[in-house]
Amino acid sequence: MPSPSPPPPVLPISEHEDEIVAAVDANPVVVVIGETGSGKSTQLSQILHRRGYTRRGAIAVTQPRRVAAVSVSRRVAQELGVPLGDEVGYAIRFEDRTSERTCIKYLTDGVLLRESLSNPELKQYSVIILDEAHERSLNTDILLGLMKRLIKDRASDLKVLITSATLDGLKVSKFFSGCPVLNIPGTLFPVEKFYSTERPTNYIESSLRTAIDIHAKEPPGDVLIFMTGKDDIDKMVSKLEERIQNLEEGSCIDALVLPLHGSLPPELQVRVFAPAPPNCRRFIVATNVAETSLTVDGVVFVIDCGYVKQRQYNPSSGMYSLDVVQISRVQADQRAGRAGRTRPGKCYRLYPISIYQNEFLEATVPEIQRTSLAGSVLYLKSLNLPDIDVLKFDFLDPPSRESLEDALRQLYLIDAIDENGQITDVGRVMAELPLEPSLSRTLIEANELGCLSQALTVASILSAEITLRSASKDMDGKRKRQELPDGSGWGDHIQLLQIFESWDQSGYDPKWCSDHDLQVRSMKLSKDVRNQLCQIIKKIAKGSTDVHARKSQKSDPDYRKLRRALSTQLVQVHPSSVLEGDEYGKFPMYVIYHELISTTRPYMRNICAVEQAWVEPILKKLEKLDVNRLSGGSSAPKDSELLVENKQVNTLKKDMDVKQSER
Ligand code: ADP
Repeated sequence: MPSPSPPPPVLPISEHEDEIVAAVDANPVVVVIGETGSGKSTQLSQILHRRGYTRRGAIAVTQPRRVAAVSVSRRVAQELGVPLGDEVGYAIRFEDRTSERTCIKYLTDGVLLRESLSNPELKQYSVIILDEAHERSLNTDILLGLMKRLIKDRASDLKVLITSATLDGLKVSKFFSGCPVLNIPGTLFPVEKFYSTERPTNYIESSLRTAIDIHAKEPPGDVLIFMTGKDDIDKMVSKLEERIQNLEEGSCIDALVLPLHGSLPPELQVRVFAPAPPNCRRFIVATNVAETSLTVDGVVFVIDCGYVKQRQYNPSSGMYSLDVVQISRVQADQRAGRAGRTRPGKCYRLYPISIYQNEFLEATVPEIQRTSLAGSVLYLKSLNLPDIDVLKFDFLDPPSRESLEDALRQLYLIDAIDENGQITDVGRVMAELPLEPSLSRTLIEANELGCLSQALTVASILSAEITLRSASKDMDGKRKRQELPDGSGWGDHIQLLQIFESWDQSGYDPKWCSDHDLQVRSMKLSKDVRNQLCQIIKKIAKGSTDVHARKSQKSDPDYRKLRRALSTQLVQVHPSSVLEGDEYGKFPMYVIYHELISTTRPYMRNICAVEQAWVEPILKKLEKLDVNRLSGGSSAPKDSELLVENKQVNTLKKDMDVKQSER
């Protein structure tokens, strides 16, 4: 058994232990507002555990980000001197590291939602802490609404805490009928802010120059650099290392450059929590995970490019865009605050003060207002709450009616709900699967068509959110990849399947991956996800489920069954003009996509050819659809404007050409 790590410095939260416990004793819901790093994530659960709250049930602490759930639980296990997975554990999608003894459980907000499906009262928990509520993730927002209902039923034996670094406490308190708000004063040192006179044309270059300047001129202290995503971070890390090595005048201290983002392997993530070697300045190049989710100690200088990468969903086109957008003022202040944790610090803002004041939004737009709600609406429907009209669900900030209707429409088209908005048997099975609704639907269809095994493989690769990215970019890598299966002309899904099957045939040999320039880690992850999905589907699917990842049946050389199962994904797509497209030949070709995304221009990600006959029943459903009846409320259909028209069916052919030209 590991010995406890040295006691952490007394954190602000711990200094208010009595006050917190008194408030929790006396109230079903308490809001705790405290500076990032004040100990909310790591200490609150331990305090309530010490004070006996785990006698009646476990303490659940939700995190919007997987990386935080893993990292914080690891830290708490260390502080308590117990092995991770025993008294302290974590559960994230596709990974459960808890046991029967676990009494402090860190989990993503999505996993808690899922648990409430099989156990609506969440009886296993005596305390539920919704951590990082300021992130306003979609799932946390839904949990806020559910908690409001739940505390009515379990008023006597459930405590709910909502914690946040920046959230408007009064607003949440009002939402929970005036529950108390505890403000934990932080011990932030002053942070001096420097603004650029104008926006740099290249923020990587500008961050680099600032970082080198700090290294050459400033006293010891770590530097935290905010970038927008993994690619920028990789670029920044290698350029920074190079420049530091070539520094003419040198610096009197050494330097260590560390990346930090959500898709970093865990063993690399923990490096940022280890203290810096003596006489060494660390440069931590991070995404916005370092804004509030993960606190890196020792930072004295912050470089803020003023941007963040954000996914945005447009319900009228069914299209996601992944945009680099300006941060909000709240985010900018959080970023600056990271410099003042241990002593007075400095923050270099690579934008003028006028942009901060006049262009930045006050706060970040909650995810619920910029994402597809199909999964969440299916979830709400599957709860069977007696009086629930999803259009009237009690949200802290309601999503637009348009995006709720978009979600209802999608669910109806994939048979998850019927024309009266009632959840169907198919919908129930779908809700049990930890996948987005369209992929769940594909699995169900595949099971009926007898190609479940193939569909499981495809769903695993897609939902593990991995790209079978090239390990290297050179000619050698390209040559190796040319030897990979090519999808036989049927598209990306089939290619993914063929790649996985070839790897399976090699006996899951890591060398096979490197020989084909594929990342071993990504491939292994998809295999793990596949195993998990197999277990879940065996539990819930009726009848036989053949799930072995063997080479595709010779009897179906064109992958017709799989492609047909995938055609249920068409829901967001609309082939209206394909029928007129003579230039494409007599038989119009349809494709489905996994994701429609707009970057520099719109394109489809992961497409697969399907046949018109498979698509027609779905188009027919569309014609008859009356979205007013789908919400589950009693409101009668009103006007015809809400009827879905065929124009919503997009032509895929066009987008496919775009995609091909980008290849
Ligand atoms: P908050 O939730 O209020 O932002 P945390 O509880 O996350 O605060 O952090 C409290 C302290 O614990 C910080 O000093 C932070 O650096 C430290 N800490 C958190 N996670 C880890 C970890 N995985 N390893 C080492 N230290 C950690």
